[in-house]
Amino acid sequence: MHLTGWGRYPAVDAAPVAFPNPRALAQKLSEIGPLIAFGNGRSYGDSALAPQFLPCRQRDRFLDFDPETGLLTCEAGVLLAEIIETFLPQGWFLKVTPGTKLITVGGAIAADVHGKNHHVDGCFGDTVQSLTLMLGDGQVVRCSREENPELFRATCGGMGLTGIILEASFFLKAVPSNRIEQGTIKTTNLDETFAAFERYADWPYSVAWIDCLAKGKDLGRSLLMVGKFAPLGELTYRPRKTKTVPCDFPGFTLNSLSVRAFNALYYAKVRSRISMNFADVDSFFYPLDAINHWNRIYGRKGFVQYQFILPKAYSYAGLQEVLGTIAASGMGSFLAVLKLYGPSNGNPLSFPLEGYSLALDFKIEPGLFALLDRLDRIVLQHGGRIYLAKDARVSRETFEQGYPQIDHFRQLRSSMGLSDTFHSLQSQRLGL
Ligand SMILES: Cc1cc2nc3c(=O)[nH]c(=O)nc-3n(C[C@H](O)[C@H](O)[C@H](O)COP(=O)(O)OP(=O)(O)OC[C@H]3O[C@@H](n4cnc5c(N)ncnc54)[C@H](O)[C@@H]3O)c2cc1C
Repeated sequence: MHLTGWGRYPAVDAAPVAFPNPRALAQKLSEIGPLIAFGNGRSYGDSALAPQFLPCRQRDRFLDFDPETGLLTCEAGVLLAEIIETFLPQGWFLKVTPGTKLITVGGAIAADVHGKNHHVDGCFGDTVQSLTLMLGDGQVVRCSREENPELFRATCGGMGLTGIILEASFFLKAVPSNRIEQGTIKTTNLDETFAAFERYADWPYSVAWIDCLAKGKDLGRSLLMVGKFAPLGELTYRPRKTKTVPCDFPGFTLNSLSVRAFNALYYAKVRSRISMNFADVDSFFYPLDAINHWNRIYGRKGFVQYQFILPKAYSYAGLQEVLGTIAASGMGSFLAVLKLYGPSNGNPLSFPLEGYSLALDFKIEPGLFALLDRLDRIVLQHGGRIYLAKDARVSRETFEQGYPQIDHFRQLRSSMGLSDTFHSLQSQRLGL
């Protein structure tokens, strides 16, 4: 079958490996050669792609919940959406959630995903108490900060390359209501955007949309959204109705003119410098989930998301250069999202470090990869790194410079025989 990630680039002819139960899988693993786990296909690039893949979504049972501590144990194929539907009405929410709820627990751990609250709560892996992992020889091991700690740290962020996560126990957080108190701060340039992030750093959730085609005195203008759970409100949850993009948009629909027009309108729609309102969890955390198959708007050739992070001391200079380079290229991105991060958790392949990250979506078109190579150089010059969960094209040299613990990860994989069994297109490209 034709398999892609969320960006629909690249594609691979791939065969699913049937996985009725872990015992059967353990028997098969030695016979079938390299493969990679596949969660819900929401990573953008090639991290879950390989000629043989293991669909993990079917393993979706809740196994235990402790209402005293909020510790949930479930199989790795459970979707974050299923956790919210079940536990928000009981007053519990995910401690860490990315910008889509349509990912599996296994995918959340393997990418060590972060949300709008990294500066306060860290990564998904930081909420995990323990997990069970099937290794390449079919052995199932338990990992935590106390038991097999190296393997645990390598698995959180390890992009499926340390084994198959079967189950996980992680903490949910108690919330008083299903409503978010939301503030929107309109800024006119990068100075103001940074100042606003710092001013609202004690709000648990923050994210800024940046107008990446703005130049000159407007460079870095943004709408910063901050939020916190409102103390009063109901604890019901009814998933929002979704709309569907029915087919691929033609390639010309998204061009620098349409992106510039969209950006100008989106920015102008917000009139006040600061506005406050209330939002439900779906519209605050998961606005893109409202449209099924929104990845089709980038056309048949697909798109890549480019997400990098820079240490705080170099974030301003680096972002100025990146935004200037993009604006000059004319290859705008609809979505340009800036986030603030707290300290790194030290997991060898985990993406976040203390600073700012920018995520940009670009449709595949001539000249794009040359632009991204230029951006890579700026990122490296400013001490930054690229996010594997979004990547489809970074070079091995660029990747290695951003992740100083990469050799440690490689050694662990080879000493445990994991590199014989688990491989993705991404791991082959990057020599992981
Ligand atoms: C709209 C949108 C918004 C997003 N926002 C964010 C964000 O804010 N922050 C963020 O960090 N990410 C974000 N992401 C990326 C997404 O959270 C990650 O790519 C996540 O890993 C996808 O999980 P998945 O279940 O779809 O896994 P897949 O995409 O199928 O796989 C991702 C990786 O997990 C591995 N994997 C999956 N299941 C298992 C398992 N059981 N055992 C071992 N390895 C496994 C795969 O091998 C692969 O390497 C976003 C994605 C989208 C589409």
